[in-house]
Amino acid sequence: MIQYKCPFCKTELETEEALSGAQDTCPECGRIHPVPLSKQDLTRARKEQKAEQKRARKEQKAARAAAWEAAMVAAVEAQRARKQQERLNQPSNTTTLESRSNNA
Ligand SMILES: [Zn+2]
Repeated sequence: MIQYKCPFCKTELETEEALSGAQDTCPECGRIHPVPLSKQDLTRARKEQKAEQKRARKEQKAARAAAWEAAMVAAVEAQRARKQQERLNQPSNTTTLESRSNNA
């Protein structure tokens, strides 16, 4: 049984554990009120909350790693593009030599 006080009239109440977290009507004042969680449910809820926090932290870590990886890839791509651009800007006859040898 869950023992608690009616939030409205403060009457000591007892409810079956099956009603944990559900709504009940106070036999004294007749008002509908939420039944507090049973110890079992409270423990489970805390455990679930902890697991959820752990999962969220893990996800955050994974997201950070993914962002870092994406940044690395972007940096490498940028460097590659820059080098390619530099090569194109450089007065070199590599291309002409290649095309010449291809023609011959
Ligand atoms: Zn009441």
